[in-house]
Order: sequence, then structure tokens, then C-alpha cells
Amino acid sequence: MLTMPADVTITHDRPIRTWFNCGGRAARYAQPATIEQLRQCLAIDRDLRVLGDGANLLIGDEGVDELVVELNTGEFAAVQIDIDAARGSGLVRAGAGVNLPKLIHQTHAAGLCGLEVLGGIPASIGGAAVMNAGGAFGEIGTFVEAVEVMARDGQIHTLPKASCTFAYRHSTFGEMERPIITAVHLRLSTGDTAAARAKLLEVMAYKKRTQPMAADSAGCTFKNPTLASAIETIGVAGQRVSAGLLIDRAGCKGLRIGGAEVSSQHGNFFVTHAGCTATDLLNLMAEVRRRVHGQFGVMLRPEVAIWGREATRMFAEVGSMHHR
Ligand SMILES: Cc1cc2nc3c(=O)[nH]c(=O)nc-3n(C[C@H](O)[C@H](O)[C@H](O)COP(=O)(O)OP(=O)(O)OC[C@H]3O[C@@H](n4cnc5c(N)ncnc54)[C@H](O)[C@@H]3O)c2cc1C
Repeated sequence: MLTMPADVTITHDRPIRTWFNCGGRAARYAQPATIEQLRQCLAIDRDLRVLGDGANLLIGDEGVDELVVELNTGEFAAVQIDIDAARGSGLVRAGAGVNLPKLIHQTHAAGLCGLEVLGGIPASIGGAAVMNAGGAFGEIGTFVEAVEVMARDGQIHTLPKASCTFAYRHSTFGEMERPIITAVHLRLSTGDTAAARAKLLEVMAYKKRTQPMAADSAGCTFKNPTLASAIETIGVAGQRVSAGLLIDRAGCKGLRIGGAEVSSQHGNFFVTHAGCTATDLLNLMAEVRRRVHGQFGVMLRPEVAIWGREATRMFAEVGSMHHR
């Protein structure tokens, strides 16, 4: 008997889960489990938006018109680990929807080290690759061996590391515009996994000391800017400096608009309280940006991806909202 592949199911008016815990709904939502179903989604809306773990995402209160696609089931949730003992390494192929914190533990259990430097970063593997997630301890791009993507025309490509660029919270995949990451191949080393686990605890302890990990936030709100000219006690021309430091020096820590607040622990973490709206967050971001610009002449650019027509418009004049 011939079995036909199942069609993807589209649901309507669905809430979108983000770490900010606020914002509007998806007019249309799908959870494809196969490449073919993802292709069907592109046929429905070529401009569809991919939702990862929602850890770097601000969705306007008006919601999202484009089809929202979540890649966290079926083949997009699969992990394959091949150890190459002779080479002292292992190759991990993780579907785009695999949870990064879980993958860190899974690779340690398989005898592979490396990903512990990404401890405390909530993400799907696809979202982590797009954002080149990382920080003081390391970045995911360092481990990438290849990336499987679907172009907006539905074609699948496997791009070797040499065709990808990973820079500070930014990535490119060949010449492709807004490709959809379907899987990521990571090269990790075999080695002392007890030491790797100890490193993970150290990274997590550092984050707990310096960041409001328990609050609702999307991590750093703005990108660390590169200074056009020197600012006394902050940095020299051409230096990338901490946005959190600029926000702190501009006196914004603890600043609150509605349910949104600049964390008093870390100036670049904006936390949300019960009843917070996306508009509160956007207004707070605009106010902080105004004050930092007024004091230092530096225009902060959002690190968080912003979805929704109105929300995007508020920040459009400072450039693309998407992983630049
Ligand atoms: C408490 C906390 C701490 C954090 N600390 C850090 C940190 O130390 N370093 C750091 O870099 N970040 C940090 N972040 C931010 C966040 O964890 C990262 O940006 C992460 O990479 C987001 O991944 P995600 O899967 O949640 O992506 P989402 O937030 O779901 O999406 C972000 C963007 O990536 C796109 N995207 C997601 N998946 C895909 C895909 N498969 N294909 C194409 N596009 C895709 C989305 O469309 C969107 O534009 C932190 C966030 C929180 C809440």
C-alpha cells in the first residue's frame, strides 16, 4: 500500500512562547516534523518566521502576520553522535530544534567535551547558530563543521564551515538570504569529561553571580557597540565595549516602564514583571537608547530579534532587527 506523507497542520491564533513572557500571538502556526512538511510551510508563506527556544525574541503586542514555524519535533529534534577515537574527536549532528543545554549534557555523557563553554545559554541549536551564541567563554561557531539549511525556494544545502561566517552575535550562510537552519554539525573533542562538567559548573556559577538568571528576560537586549571615538574610562576608538556598562553609566539600572525594568544586577538585561506588555519593553528600550545616546553619542542596536509590524517599525531606523 502506498502511504502519502502527512500534510503539515496549521493552527490559528496561537500564543508564542518567549523568555520575555509577553507579546502577541501567531496568526498562523505550524510544527513541521519533516523536511517535506517544512517545504509545505514555505509554499504557504515564503516569509515564514522560525521560532527557536524564544530566548532572544521580542514579539510586538499586535502579534505576527507571517506563518510561525517551530522546528522542535521529528527529524528536527534528532541527535546523532559519531565518535572518531583515532582522531580524538566526535561529530555531532543536531536537528535545529535540539535544546542546547540538553545537548551539552548529552555530549558529555557520550564522552565529548567543548560545549560546556556555552553553559547558561537557553537556545535551540538552530537559534544558537544563527545568533552565534556565546560570550566570554566561547561561541558556538568555533565548533561548527557544517550547517544544513533550507533556502526560501525549498532547496536543501549542506554548507561546509568555509561557506559560513560566525562573528559577534552574527552569522552568514553562503549567499543565502534568511535561510532556515535545519541541522548543525559540531566537531567536539574526546577528553576529560569530568573536567568539562566542572567547567560547566564554573560557567553557570559565573552567570548566576552576574546575571538575573531566574527573572524573565532575553539575556542581553542590545549588542555591545564598537566605539567610533574614545570615551573616557569606557574605551578607545574601534573598541567593542559593554552595552551594559554604558547603560549603567547613563543611570538606567532599575529604570522601569510599566512591567518592564532594567535589571539592577546587569544593565543590559531587561526583565519583565507580571502584566508586562511588549510595548512596555519597546518603550523602555527606546528610553534607554535615548539616554545612552544623549550621554555618550552611541546608538545602541538591539541584539534581540523583534517580530511584529509595529514593533519592528519602532527600531527600524537603526538598521536590521535580524541577527546583525
Ligand atoms: C537568561 C538568558 C541568558 C542568555 N545568555 C546569552 C549568552 O550568554 N550569550 C548569547 O549569545 N545569548 C544569550 N542569550 C540569548 C539567547 O539565548 C541566544 O540568542 C540564543 O541563541 C537564542 O536561540 P533561540 O533558539 O532561543 O532563538 P529564538 O529566540 O527563538 O530566535 C532568535 C532569532 O533566530 C532565528 N532562528 C531561530 N531558529 C532558527 C532556525 N532554525 N533557522 C533560522 N533562523 C532561526 C529566529 O527566527 C530569530 O530571528 C540569553 C538569553 C536568556 C533568556
